Amino acid sequence: MQVQMKFERYIATLIIAVLFSMLAFPGKSSVGQTAVSKLPPLLHRDLHDYLVEQEIRQQVRLNILPQLSQSVMAARFLRHGPEGKKRVSITFDDGPFLFTEKYISVLKEYDVDAAFFLIGVQIDKYPDEAKKIAESGYEIGVHSYGHRQLTAMSRSSIENDFEKSLSAVKRITDSEIRFFRPPFGEFNDTVIDIAKKYNLTTVLWCVDPRDWQETDPDVIARHVIDRATNGAIILLHEGRESGIEALPQIIEGLWERGFEIVSLSELLSEEIV
Ligand SMILES: [Zn+2]
Repeated sequence: MQVQMKFERYIATLIIAVLFSMLAFPGKSSVGQTAVSKLPPLLHRDLHDYLVEQEIRQQVRLNILPQLSQSVMAARFLRHGPEGKKRVSITFDDGPFLFTEKYISVLKEYDVDAAFFLIGVQIDKYPDEAKKIAESGYEIGVHSYGHRQLTAMSRSSIENDFEKSLSAVKRITDSEIRFFRPPFGEFNDTVIDIAKKYNLTTVLWCVDPRDWQETDPDVIARHVIDRATNGAIILLHEGRESGIEALPQIIEGLWERGFEIVSLSELLSEEIV
């Protein structure tokens, strides 16, 4: 009996110690010299929510993606995620590209998640960069094979395009592919139906700084920071120096506004009401 009590007390002390260390050192596990704190202030967050999020994050690290919510699965397409929490997702289109490693090193330095919507021909051209994205644990989405306007193509050519882009992605990763983004954001019912046939959710965006056109990193960062709202899906493009330069500012600015930057699957694991 006494042994039982001691054991229970030991477990209780252990749990309290673990909780204390998680509260006291929330960013302890991350590496790099980040100027600002990793998470919005804990005092404003419910402990239960925090622990649930830690659990999800751990699963993401282990490559077990959180399940997408029913409303997300049922949606024809999405421009943003649930608005209940101050969370956003960053997405990069049109890679992989020569600068892919630079994006990854910034994301790693800040310990921030992102999704990469890759083009099939680019994967074939830069397979090492594509593998690096997957190996670094970032989610990969499909952004067509040759970046052609799918709405101008026949059903069979669109299907062929999906087949080719999915097999290009599967050459570089075993991870489950969940998301599709049409080139130029142009889609119709046929495109969405075909995406659904391949179990892909069509994900667009709601914040677009037009970074492929804008050369001033400050303008790009300001646009994203000012327009971010709860559940925002942010569109950036690979391949521009100005975009890479803007990325640290974007991350720090979003954090300063209290947003948490999460993976697309994490953002979309909650119901959209
Ligand atoms: Zn594109």
